[in-house]
Amino acid sequence: MNRERSDEMYRRACRVMPGGVSSPVRAFRAVGGTPIYFQEAARASFTDLDGNSYIDFVMSWGPLILGHAHPETVRAVQLASARGLSYGAPCRDEVALAEKVVASYPGCEMVRFVSSGTEAVMAAIRLARGVTGRSRMLKFDGCYHGHSDSLLVKAGSGLATFATASSAGVPASLAALTAVIPLDDAAALEAVFSRYGDELAAAVIEPVPANAGLLLQRRELLARLAELCRRHGALLVFDEVISGFRLDRGGAAARLGITPDLATFGKVIGGGLPVGAYGGRRELMECVAPLGPVYQAGTLSGNPVAMAAGLTTLDVLEQEHGWTRLEQLGATFEALVVGTIRHAGVPASLVRTGSVFWLSLQEGEPPRRFDRIDPRCARRYARLHAEMLDRGVYMAPSAYEVGFLSTAHVEADLESFAEALRPALAAAFS
Ligand code: PMP
Repeated sequence: MNRERSDEMYRRACRVMPGGVSSPVRAFRAVGGTPIYFQEAARASFTDLDGNSYIDFVMSWGPLILGHAHPETVRAVQLASARGLSYGAPCRDEVALAEKVVASYPGCEMVRFVSSGTEAVMAAIRLARGVTGRSRMLKFDGCYHGHSDSLLVKAGSGLATFATASSAGVPASLAALTAVIPLDDAAALEAVFSRYGDELAAAVIEPVPANAGLLLQRRELLARLAELCRRHGALLVFDEVISGFRLDRGGAAARLGITPDLATFGKVIGGGLPVGAYGGRRELMECVAPLGPVYQAGTLSGNPVAMAAGLTTLDVLEQEHGWTRLEQLGATFEALVVGTIRHAGVPASLVRTGSVFWLSLQEGEPPRRFDRIDPRCARRYARLHAEMLDRGVYMAPSAYEVGFLSTAHVEADLESFAEALRPALAAAFS
């Protein structure tokens, strides 16, 4: 496949942008090669600058639940743009979108819009600290919550519970306020709460962890986490930036039957435009400025064009029974991929929930915690990724990222994936 124009663009980009990209994973460092520059996209496919076509299983990392450039979303965006790109003042669609979030998500009585998932979680954490008057936080190894300082941390060495910064530039004193424990570890959960429970402002978790593979959690563990939070007066924050409005209109919370104190959203609620949100019980949200003492603001928050895109996306999902369709597509995808893996006779498995999936390229049961991911998977995935790409299937350029289906994918797309997977698996395990 000729990718000369993408390569040339990347060379240009590297001269003026760090790593040539606006977000690090896009640089293809984890899989080798150079990034592919999108030229145009529609439904489940795109063409690159060199005119090659691909079926997309990244879908902008989750927002494009209706596929690329869904006609109704595009129309809503065009109409909204013509009425003004930004007001810096309230608008109708933000009220409508807020009403929709409140009507859809368990326990969410009020919501505040921001412009990214990072901002949403950062603000939810500030709110939790402001409400409880406590500083410490609990997070789980392998969950990603954006790049705000308190959350850009990793587990400390040995038995240390409190974290160290996972990025230069994060003050050690701030990182040390966040405790990090493994997912799927009931003993560690009990231990951290018995030691520090009364000092925790919040425990933040992706209820469906999807940023280090897809580490599906047992419901009991999440229910126990909710119980411990309640008992110790710590707030439970579900980071539903990926799962919110994707797994269900009520996100993972509705699927699990567990209601968090606060939840964060992003991706799908913006329909492809920059939107994030956080919400929860009224008495908590009333602590946010201008009603309460917890400050948080944004020039572009509730942007009318972004609100129109998000609102239309959710409307179309409702009207077209999107979540049912995505579950059907997911099941078809799973059957095809599982069949292909079995036929290949390699130690791999598919992990899937709804329209989110991940290939676990290792022996045995798929992992439920980050440190159980075999580091050899990354090399296997790099080979698999290159083979898929050459066959016109675009997957995330990192072994740790999940894939997404959209309502624009059709069965033929899923069959193409499975067909490309056969030689790709052979290459991965060669
Ligand atoms: N939380 C989760 C669960 C995410 O997956 C992400 C991004 N993938 C974020 C927060 C941060 O969102 P953003 O990239 O929009 O800042």
